[in-house]
Formats: sequence, C-alpha cells, structure tokens
Amino acid sequence: MSTEHAAPALSTRDFIDLEERYGAHNYHPLDLVIERGEGCWVHDVEGRKYLDCLSAYSAVNQGHCHPRILETLREQAAKVTLTSRAFRNDQLPHLYKALRELSGLSRALPMNSGAEACETAIKLARKWGYTVKGIPEDKAEVIVFANNFHGRTISLISFSTVRSYRQGFGPFTPGFTVVPYDDVEAVRRAITPNTCAILMEPIQAEAGVLIPRDGYLKQVAELCKQHRVLFMVDEIQTGLGRTGKTFAFQHEDVRPDVIVVGKALSGGFYPVSAVMADDEVMGVLRPGEHGSTYGGNPLGCAVARTALDVLRDERLVERSAEMGTSFLAMLKTLKNRHIVEVRGRGLMIGVALDISARPACEALMKEGVLCKETHDSVIRLTPPLIVTQAELDWAFERIKKVIEAL
Ligand SMILES: *Cc1c(COP(=O)(O)O)cnc(C)c1O
Repeated sequence: MSTEHAAPALSTRDFIDLEERYGAHNYHPLDLVIERGEGCWVHDVEGRKYLDCLSAYSAVNQGHCHPRILETLREQAAKVTLTSRAFRNDQLPHLYKALRELSGLSRALPMNSGAEACETAIKLARKWGYTVKGIPEDKAEVIVFANNFHGRTISLISFSTVRSYRQGFGPFTPGFTVVPYDDVEAVRRAITPNTCAILMEPIQAEAGVLIPRDGYLKQVAELCKQHRVLFMVDEIQTGLGRTGKTFAFQHEDVRPDVIVVGKALSGGFYPVSAVMADDEVMGVLRPGEHGSTYGGNPLGCAVARTALDVLRDERLVERSAEMGTSFLAMLKTLKNRHIVEVRGRGLMIGVALDISARPACEALMKEGVLCKETHDSVIRLTPPLIVTQAELDWAFERIKKVIEAL
C-alpha cells in the first residue's frame, strides 16, 4: 500500500478554518463537514453519522448517491457529456418525453439552476404577453407574492420581500407586483390589462412551509383564466414528490400554464432544471432568443431521466404521502411552550417556534439529526423520500429530546 501521497488527515476545525479563510461568507452552515452520503444518511470527516432531514433543500429526494442514478451518471459520463445545443444529442428527447408524461404540458425547456429556470419562465411569460396577449412593449407585469423565494439573480431578488436578499444589490428589475400570499382578493386587485403572469410557490417552503388555505390555488387559477394571465408555479422545492403528490399544485384541481422544476429533477447529482408549458406559450420562443451552454446537455438529461424513473419505480410520491402523514402525526405530539405550530404536507414539514430555531438545529446535529432553520424560527424537516418508518422513529426520539428541552 502506498502512503507517499497521504497528507495528515484534516479535522473538522481545519476544514472550517480553511473555508472561513478562503471562501465568501454568504452562508452560515452548521459546523459539520460531510464527506460521504448514502440513502438518508451522511457521514462527517470525524466518522460520525447523521440522518439528513434537509435533503439539500429537497434536491436529494431520491436519497444520497442513489445507485441507479450513479450508474447512469457513470455510463453517460463515459459516452458524451456536453454537446451544446448547436448540435442535437440522443438524451434530450428522452427527457422531454419523461417531462411531458410527468406534467401533461406538451413542451419543456431545459436549464441548469432553479434560478435560471425561474428567469426563463418570466422571459417566456413576458414574450407571450407581448406576442400573444398584445401587451404594449415593455409594459408587461408579473404578479408575485410576499415572502417568495425563486432564486438569487438580480431580477428574482428584485421582487423579494426579504431585506437581506435585496439590501445592497439594487438597482432592481421593474415589472413585478408583490401581493400578500393566500389572499385571493389581493391578486384580483393587482391584475391589470398588462399582467402577463402570476408566479407562485404552491407552498412557500423557504418562508417556513407556509401552506395556503384549501381552494386558494384554484381561485387564483380561475382568476388567471378570466383575465388571460398565465398561471406559473415554481415547483422547484415542492415538486417531484416532496409534498405527497408529484406536484404540490395537485393538492387542488388546477392545471398551471407553466411549471418550473429543478432540485430533485437530478436527484442531487448535477444541476438540471426545466420549464414546462403548452404550445401556445412555449411556441413564442424562436431560435436565438434564449439559451444556455449546459442546458439540455446529455449528462444532465440522462441523470434527470433516471432520477424521474427512480421516483416512479420506488413509488416515492406515495411514500412521501404515507411517511409524511406518520411523521407529522408524531411531531404534532411534541410539547413545549415555544412551539407555535407544526404543519406540513407529505415530507415537507415545518415546526414553527416563537424563538430562533438555530440552537435547536445545532442541538439536533449533536444528536445526529440534520436540519436547518428557515426564516429564523422554523425548523424545516424534509428527509429524503426513501426514508423508512424506523428512521423516522429514530429521528423523532431525538427531535423530542431536543425540542422538549428548549
Ligand atoms: C431552491 C429554489 C429555487 C432556486 O434554485 P437554485 O437551483 O438554488 O437556483 C427557486 N425556487 C424555489 C421554490 C426553490 O426552493
């Protein structure tokens, strides 16, 4: 065995020091350093094991390093990885077909990050507004919601209502109207003849798992139809089984005009996102009007297709509904005066506190359960959808110990 290249092993502290010294400080991570993941579990550099109850913000719904997706990644990486869209590749059509079957919308446009896909949806809506609806040049408006999260580009933060996302990053992109979430009348009042689209999260995940009242999506969708406004849903975090349905909008009887997906579309292996729409909307784009070098690359397409196959073959949507119901019921029995509410759909669950959730997340980490506070006071619990009842029981014991001691 050769040891000539072996450097002394770095400790957690060493990795953190390096990161703090050389990296931008745009995150405030929990202080563990992960080196390996398998299924619902990750291992840190000290050999400790944790149950992942964040799933990379729902990007690893299929579990870490899923063997089937890994196999596809390996095979495709050895064949061809990037062709650019200057040429066609033999993987993209398969992904188109899979997305069509999944969404019922006839066409897809592949991108990479979620933010990029949201930007794409907005470009699509504006173009549709001018060329189909007949909105005067540069007058298109998109209605968005307080506490939204759609990504970090300049245009997307232009309509964020979170101070730290915006402060110091102006000037901002015009053309957005922000209205309160879960308020149909506010949407009605905000619609003008120049409104081309509404961009909505069916559940506001980053905002702390805010679930609108039943019927809200349907009423908004009807308003959209009445006023000829595109109903666009951002399913980047809520989609692909997370809430116990393939898409969170399916909890109500609605059909969006545009669906945006990302995150779990590639099971955590590789950034792949997509915008889906019917012909009337997608048809407004002509060659040269939009693109991305890596968007639709064969490696990403192959990985995404297998990631979707895994969702179907392992019945992860159904599992999410079943396990989520069980986990939510357990979590609702937690007793502590700082708990404001325990709410969730499928395996997207929030425990809302009236104090900062950070110390609880740090204490949970020490117990071997990984989760992250969102909007300061909410503990978001979103384990991979392959999680078992035994694993949830294991996590619950630790969550109970930490929360009831707050
Ligand atoms: C994560 C997320 C995005 C942004 O995706 P990135 O890949 O981080 O750019 C957009 N919308 C929602 C709802 C998200 O959760």
